Amino acid sequence: MSFDLSEISRELLLLTLEDDSVEKFSEKAAAYIVSIPQFCNKPICSFFLVHSQKRHLQPLACVGCSPDQIADYRNLKNPDCLFFVAARSGETTVMNRENCSNDCGCDGESGLHIVPLRKGNITVALMAISLSADGMLNDGQLKVLQGISDILAKNFSRMVNLRQKEGMALLVHESPNPIIECDPEGEVVYANPAVKKILWQHSVDQDELLPSNHLEYVRSAMRLHTPESVKGEVGNSAFSWTYHYMEESDRVFLFGVDISEQKRIETQLAHDAMYDELTDLPNRTNLLSILKSELSVIKRRDDYSFALLLIDLDRFKTVIESLGFQAGNDVLREIGLRLRNWRGHDKVVARLGGDEFAVILEEINSVSKVMELATCINQLISEPFRVNENRISLTVSIGIAMGNSLNQTPEGLLHNASAAVYRAKRQGTNHTEVFDKEMHLNALARLQVHNELRQAIDSGDVVVYYQPVLGLNDLRVRGFEALARWQHPEKGLLPPGHFIPVAEETGLIYALGAHIIKIVCKQLAEWKAANYPLAWVSVNLSAHQFQIDHLVSDIMRAIVDAGADPSRLFIEITEGTAAEHPERAFEMMSRLREHGIRIALDDFGTGYSSMSYLKRFPIDTLKLDRSFIKGLPESQDDAAIATTVINMAKSLGMKVVAEGVEDERQAMFLRLQQCDEVQGFLYGKPMPVHNATLLLKAGARVKSESPPIKRIKIPQ
Ligand code: C2E
Ligand code: MG
Ligand code: MG
Repeated sequence: MSFDLSEISRELLLLTLEDDSVEKFSEKAAAYIVSIPQFCNKPICSFFLVHSQKRHLQPLACVGCSPDQIADYRNLKNPDCLFFVAARSGETTVMNRENCSNDCGCDGESGLHIVPLRKGNITVALMAISLSADGMLNDGQLKVLQGISDILAKNFSRMVNLRQKEGMALLVHESPNPIIECDPEGEVVYANPAVKKILWQHSVDQDELLPSNHLEYVRSAMRLHTPESVKGEVGNSAFSWTYHYMEESDRVFLFGVDISEQKRIETQLAHDAMYDELTDLPNRTNLLSILKSELSVIKRRDDYSFALLLIDLDRFKTVIESLGFQAGNDVLREIGLRLRNWRGHDKVVARLGGDEFAVILEEINSVSKVMELATCINQLISEPFRVNENRISLTVSIGIAMGNSLNQTPEGLLHNASAAVYRAKRQGTNHTEVFDKEMHLNALARLQVHNELRQAIDSGDVVVYYQPVLGLNDLRVRGFEALARWQHPEKGLLPPGHFIPVAEETGLIYALGAHIIKIVCKQLAEWKAANYPLAWVSVNLSAHQFQIDHLVSDIMRAIVDAGADPSRLFIEITEGTAAEHPERAFEMMSRLREHGIRIALDDFGTGYSSMSYLKRFPIDTLKLDRSFIKGLPESQDDAAIATTVINMAKSLGMKVVAEGVEDERQAMFLRLQQCDEVQGFLYGKPMPVHNATLLLKAGARVKSESPPIKRIKIPQ
């Protein structure tokens, strides 16, 4: 039977002219198509929209099956399903027993033709239709299929576009974000309600809302075809506008996002990065940049100079320890306020952190004038503070550096002022120092020591000497104190006094400390492997090392790496360090103890620690400082202190080591007081590892001898 193609096309075209929804149109089209005589094998025809992005089908209508049946097609996911194959390839695909097992969920039957309805390269919709039992079509059927699929494709594509546009218009209208539509001249042709709300809130008109240079952005979006983002502000609100050119409508859309909160956070972050949180004064970073601009004035005016004053509160820790952290903060805030309100001279005030403030005195070149103003600042801060019913009086140490040369840098100036404060502090409290040539030379010398020491650590020139510690009752070696020595290529063997302070000042103490611990742990493991009598080694820790959180894990790693026994290691902490940071000391000591490492409190008697701390701290040994041994037995003061410390330690279950025993009479006195252990030149000076090992061997022999030796000869 031949088909009247023109009649079929006409009927279908008539359908497309009706103003139906896409679903309604599909229903009518399906009903018409199955009614074309001899075209369908079975009266089955269904339509689906293809959502290419989401890769799913939207069932529209069907004839010959129930709407429920095709409703499930929404859930088809398998990309191998013939429906998707047809949609992707754009080729009509015929279902048969081989190519579809219906595993995918579609229940299309053999002979079902899946016809992609395409606009250009895009499959807009699918028509599923049963045309023949074996998939073969006669010429007539083929022609009809081609004809109707062209008409249908055009119509579906038009309807989908329309629907998208309607959806878009609705979205634009309901969007909580401002959206503006402009013509190519930048004239606003539409603004959504969100825009109107903003205009109303800020009492501005439309032009004020648009970013400045609006027309330029419109033109550039049209020229470049790429969205461009611009920031704009109205009142206290900020917006980011994206200019989008829509070619089909020849319109430019401005999509706005309120970025006021983001802007507020950014401004806050920028402020926080440059200002101290507690006092709201410029912080260190900010001070450095202010110094930079001060120095740049010198470039323009060679007669310009200024002064940098670094102000460090004396004994501020005592305030915190006695009145608490909060009171400390109140005092710092008050100092910030006093400095800020001070009208003595044009100035900039900053807080560098902790109890350190800085003042830049601008346009000043007389050092004596600077000193005079420093005295005023000192008096200003010395005025008593009232904190929770307490009156607190503070003094300050001030370091001054003059900014008067083209060659200076902000960091260098700060460093110079720090050196001056350092010197002021060393002279006690309430001092002011001006950075001078001598300090400069000292700073240079320290820098040189620092550089050389760093190399020395790397090249193994920093070594450990071991000083024996003996039991006072049998004079056998109980252990050694590890003491750092620097084998300097020119200056010979240097004691720690020559390099530890520089290492502490420059931060090299961490590397140095780690180096010493490593050597000691290796040595302990070696002695253990050689089966020498069990001796411990004590290692000194500086206050700076004490501040690092990973100290305990670093020490443990060194022990484990070397295969040493933690119970053979003592850590010596000076009484001064423990008293200065009691909480930290307690925490560190406890953590070390948990690992089986023992604790000795070094230089005891010099650090003013209170009895309550001593009771709390997990300490194994007190090392009575050399200064109290020196005068024994004649000095009544020393004798009283030594006796008290020994008795107190015993009552707390601690051992006592007397340091710096140099003669027999001192030893006799200590023995009478039942001091446990001794260390001093009388028994042995700090010695290289080789000698210490020989001493250990000799110690093993000594064990069997009686009576115990009085004086150990160091084997050479
Ligand atoms: P310290 O921990 O109190 O060490 C004892 C100091 O007293 C050693 O000085 C030792 O040689 C000296 N000494 C011992 N017996 C006598 C004696 O009978 N008479 C006299 N006059 N002196 C005696 P050294 O080796 O110069 O060490 C000085 C300080 O350097 C140590 O005092 C310790 O605080 C520090 N130190 C040494 N090595 C290290 C280290 O590796 N790390 C750290 N952070 N500090 C270390
Ligand atoms: Mg020590
Ligand atoms: Mg000591």
